[in-house]
Amino acid sequence: MGLSFNHVTLGQRVLFGSGKAAENLASEVERLGARKVMVIASAQGRATAEQVTARIEVARFYDDLAPHVPLDKAEKARAAAREGGIDLLVCVGGGSTTGMAKAVALTCGLPIVAVPTTYAGSEATNVWGLTEASRKTTGIDERVLPASIVYDAELTVSLPAALSIASGLNALAHCMDSMWAPRADPINQALAAEGIRALVRGLPSVRANPEQLEAREQALYGCYLSAVAFASAGSGMHHKICHVLGGRWNLPHAQTHAVVLPYVLAFNAAAAPDAAERIASAFGTDDPVAGLNGLRGTLDAPRALKDYGLTAGDLDEAVRLILPVIPESNPRPVTAENLRELLASALSGTIPGA
Ligand code: NAD
Repeated sequence: MGLSFNHVTLGQRVLFGSGKAAENLASEVERLGARKVMVIASAQGRATAEQVTARIEVARFYDDLAPHVPLDKAEKARAAAREGGIDLLVCVGGGSTTGMAKAVALTCGLPIVAVPTTYAGSEATNVWGLTEASRKTTGIDERVLPASIVYDAELTVSLPAALSIASGLNALAHCMDSMWAPRADPINQALAAEGIRALVRGLPSVRANPEQLEAREQALYGCYLSAVAFASAGSGMHHKICHVLGGRWNLPHAQTHAVVLPYVLAFNAAAAPDAAERIASAFGTDDPVAGLNGLRGTLDAPRALKDYGLTAGDLDEAVRLILPVIPESNPRPVTAENLRELLASALSGTIPGA
């Protein structure tokens, strides 16, 4: 069969350099000709945001944020941007902070410069998410893709080791799901494979020594590649499961991804031999499931959804909500029975193949 695909690469400037966030941000603000900048950062992230924005004029710091971007909070932030005559959004923080900037950009059309401090990867996608009445809605819109990303591994050093690992496994999940998502193609599979390699290089050292900058750089580089691959390939089975669980039961984002990933990989691997081979080779093993389990072992990774508040009584509803949103492209057919089995294992933490 010939090679045939339709690939879109999103246009974005990436400035990567440890210790260079303030300098790189200032050059981007100047290049974009912005005069009224609203900085979106959580109250806990304020000191970092001030450090990063030390060389630009800030019209307003905005910190009324919450995980999964509740719609009412998004509307308040949109009003603040409109009333303040803001012409550029700068977000400094994790995926929740980036998500708020995207929610504002979605209706106000403002450009974003994103300065990420976790490995969530939202900064490199055109995907937005909003939550209303426990239901998470996501969509794709060019207006929410940040114009530029400023990556500085020094900003991630303060991310606690356990959260760094969960967030890094969230990035790994972007890579793996990109292998079989609806728009999977050889370009994003190649990016995803290099993303896995970088994360496998970086995360064990982040775990052993959270202050080691080289490891943080590898993890951040891997996180970027993972997000580019995910943005191009779309949400596969893994992301659909995690989005429903996160929105409906308010489970923590990164940890939910970290727990669910080995179950989806074990579920799909045999039905997706090409993806399985690429993933295994990125791990330097023959078997992708063994590769992931080996990495998870060294990282002391999050293990069970019951540790984050899901209960056996939630499984029927979870199956009912997840089944209709599983992409048809998933390599292995998904039924209510095999999905329930997967979720029950993820609930209890029975790692497949381990
Ligand atoms: P988060 O942004 O909620 O951050 C988790 C915690 O880490 C917060 O308490 C935050 O204050 C803290 N934190 C962040 N950076 C820190 C640092 N450097 N040092 C110390 N503490 C720090 O979590 P997240 O996992 O980064 O992002 C999750 C959110 O991002 C979810 O809502 C998810 O849906 C969204 N997301 C969206 C996309 C997309 O493409 N749209 C992709 C990935 C994730």
